[in-house]
Amino acid sequence: MPTGIVGEFLDLKAETDADVLAMQCGDFYEFFADDAELVADELDLTVSQKSSHGSSYPMAGVPLSELTPYMKALVERGYRVAVADQYETDDGHAREITRVVTPGTLLETADDDARYLAAVVREGNDRGRSAGASATDGDAGGPYGLALADVTTGRFLVTEVETAGDLRAELYRFDPAEVLPGPRVRNDDELLGAVREDLSGSVSVFDAESFAPGRATHAVREQFGRETADSVGIDSELAMRAAGAVLGYVEETGAGVLASITRLTAYGDDDHVAVDATTQRNLELTETMRGESEGSLFETVDRTVTAAGGRLLREWLTRPRRDGAELTRRLDAVEALASAALARDRLRETLGDAYDLERLAARATSGSAGARELLSVRDSLALVPALADAVSGTALADSPVAAVLDRIDRERAATLHDELAAALAEDPPKAKTQGGLLREGYDDELDELIASHEEAAEWLDTLAEREKRQYGLSHVTVDRNKTDGYYIQVGKSVADQVPEHYREIKTLKNSKRFVTDELEEREREVLRLEEARGELEYELFEALRERVAADAELLQDVGRAVAEIDALASLATHAAGNDWTRPELTDERRLDVEAGRHPVVERTTDFVPNDLRLDGERGFLIVTGPNMSGKSTYMRQAALIQLLAQAGSFVPARSATVGLVDGIYTRVGALDELAQGRSTFMVEMQELSNILHSATEESLVILDEVGRGTATYDGISIAWAATEYLHNEVRARTLFATHYHELTTLADHLPRVANVHVAVDERDGEVTFLRTVRDGPTNRSYGVHVADLAGVPEPVVSRADTVLDRLREEKAIEAKGGGRDDGAAAGRDAADGDTRQVVFDLSSGSFAGEGRKASETRSDVETATNGARSTESEAVGAKQSEPEATEPSGLDPETEAVLAELADVDVAATAPVELLSRVQEWQERLDGNR
Ligand code: ADP
Repeated sequence: MPTGIVGEFLDLKAETDADVLAMQCGDFYEFFADDAELVADELDLTVSQKSSHGSSYPMAGVPLSELTPYMKALVERGYRVAVADQYETDDGHAREITRVVTPGTLLETADDDARYLAAVVREGNDRGRSAGASATDGDAGGPYGLALADVTTGRFLVTEVETAGDLRAELYRFDPAEVLPGPRVRNDDELLGAVREDLSGSVSVFDAESFAPGRATHAVREQFGRETADSVGIDSELAMRAAGAVLGYVEETGAGVLASITRLTAYGDDDHVAVDATTQRNLELTETMRGESEGSLFETVDRTVTAAGGRLLREWLTRPRRDGAELTRRLDAVEALASAALARDRLRETLGDAYDLERLAARATSGSAGARELLSVRDSLALVPALADAVSGTALADSPVAAVLDRIDRERAATLHDELAAALAEDPPKAKTQGGLLREGYDDELDELIASHEEAAEWLDTLAEREKRQYGLSHVTVDRNKTDGYYIQVGKSVADQVPEHYREIKTLKNSKRFVTDELEEREREVLRLEEARGELEYELFEALRERVAADAELLQDVGRAVAEIDALASLATHAAGNDWTRPELTDERRLDVEAGRHPVVERTTDFVPNDLRLDGERGFLIVTGPNMSGKSTYMRQAALIQLLAQAGSFVPARSATVGLVDGIYTRVGALDELAQGRSTFMVEMQELSNILHSATEESLVILDEVGRGTATYDGISIAWAATEYLHNEVRARTLFATHYHELTTLADHLPRVANVHVAVDERDGEVTFLRTVRDGPTNRSYGVHVADLAGVPEPVVSRADTVLDRLREEKAIEAKGGGRDDGAAAGRDAADGDTRQVVFDLSSGSFAGEGRKASETRSDVETATNGARSTESEAVGAKQSEPEATEPSGLDPETEAVLAELADVDVAATAPVELLSRVQEWQERLDGNR
């Protein structure tokens, strides 16, 4: 075991569960051993070797004053950094860990995004009966208590959510920098794995005691005051426990940010539209499927000019509301702002000067705000009357925008502003202890001290000149340093001419240093004044900062108003510039859009608008059309219009009547699943399962292909059954794009199912995408044409055409060949309790025995596949709609394939060598088949 300094380091390191320890050694913070290697790697520091009692250890260090940026960089990379400071003792010095800075408690952050620390707890404790039970154990895991603190703005949110899916949705939305899993969550590997996958933040395990109910309640009351804690009404014990853990953690890290957590909000879910993590991702609300922010909905509509406005707009988009009154208020404001362009511009210009008041308030309360930050507070407060001016006398005066401003206590804001204006110097230094923070005239005592200090300093400054003149000395300077204090330095050549009362203190190579009694006295005087001035100034400054902290609530109100007006003006600006329209909100179950567009795609494309009607008569649309025709865009467009309306935004359409929904659910074949190498089909089914469990009659469901990840007949069966279930049981408004053209026949049997298709124009074998959605089904996939358009080499395209034709024929054979493969499906209409059975004939694409009652037909004919087939089941195309019956050839498929290839060879066009090798290959394949 190493001793000495490295030993001490390792001992301290053992005390903390932080990832890295920075230990003060004099004027440096040092990292030793593994930690040295780690920081050297991450931060490009140089590693040296420290010998300690015969061994040598890697060592890296940063000067005291530079710890913060290094620490920040480490924390932003997800490390938790412990800091051990050195302090004086009677016999030398000692060190102890004074704080641990973690991703969720880092106050100094450069970006504008909120930075949450989250705690999650589940009923029971680790030792309980079902410890380690997974979120997927039947009960979907919940309920969970969730608390989220943003130490940079002081926001503190607590809630209880029902299921693991809800929990993931919340975490995905807030994207916390750090998550503390509580009892029963910390050993749920599946849930933690999912959370890790969803989030960029880190997971920190924290003392289970802090999650205990009694302790948590106590911590919350301590933090927010009993009254606030009780009146906010955290009625869920789980939420309370999560809240307690967050506070406990923040306190334990000692990073000094506990004081900044001031705004407690308990929120329930009744008020919001459920938008699960998958849907947030599928709809690309804040980042695209590829993980880029560009091209996301937020990035597209974000015209905010302040950081807080951006945060709020993001929240509105990811947490749409169900509260019609609140949405109407936002829409009224957006409408007013959209039409009052001049007033809006002036307002936005004024807003642009606002600093991030939420964050400034947090810094004031945590005691870390400097004079420059207080100046920012002053300047932001100065905007309050300017904003009021920009509104009054304009069309905005009667709008909710004015009401937002009216919520600010303007008198209090003016008072605080004036106090700060009277106190702060215009251009204060960065450091808080250098002087120069406060304005002359602010405090008489300070002014006097400053005057005396400056006078004494002036005496010192001019001393050299006086000495030169008085004693005829050349080469005289007066200076100070740490060891000698103030001194008179005289060049060697004239050193013997100095007057009697000079006392020599040092001889240097070319000069000598002297002091005099008077100089020493003045020095003492200057130092005393300097110190007194610094102390007083700092004291006054601290008082000023406390004064600001005491008004933190006011700052947050102003900050909130600025953010809100900014977000509203942003929505209005985008709406006005892109010809968006105010949606009409209704409680009826409908979504009626005239000439709707996709809010993101329309920005970069010559977009073809489309209508959409979903209502009581047609609540379930089956969307068909060739690949790449625009099905997916059409459906996402519907979901985004719904979501925008419930964020309080205008929508990209000529007109839209939007019935409020309680949830938006999507299932879209996603790239990232493939990239992550998960079983795509399993994921697909989990997502479908979640939708079938969670969606209600008040929800909007978007299904972009279901069942594609499995064998065709399995796929059709699942898609079929899911359609029936959604139509009959869930009754959600649904858009379902499918390549199983067979499903389109469901429209004839389920009353609220209707078909729409994206039209294409096909002439002379060329396909033109019209991007127009029309009623009725389509029955072709045009996949090969898309391959052609995409530039797939001609031989492959023509070969694919041949194969497709053959497959179509084969399907006809299978279906007509009788025996085992008659297609069948049962349409069940639970609504009227009448069970009809219909037999679906895959070859003709039509139903046999339609409308027969179950009592009449009991034969459930099996759907079976004849070996693996292509998924091109929609291939029952126009050309082949009446395929001829062909006898089975009796040959096995491989032999058939070889024959087909043989028939296709263009002997004249193929090189002899290649012919040779292909013949050889065919022989081998035939051999292998015997
Ligand atoms: P699908 O889901 O049918 O395969 P997509 O919805 O992915 O097709 O659309 C394919 C392409 O067509 C996209 O790149 C999209 O930009 C474009 N597109 C879709 N709908 C429209 C439209 N209404 N107007 C213009 N371009 C569109």
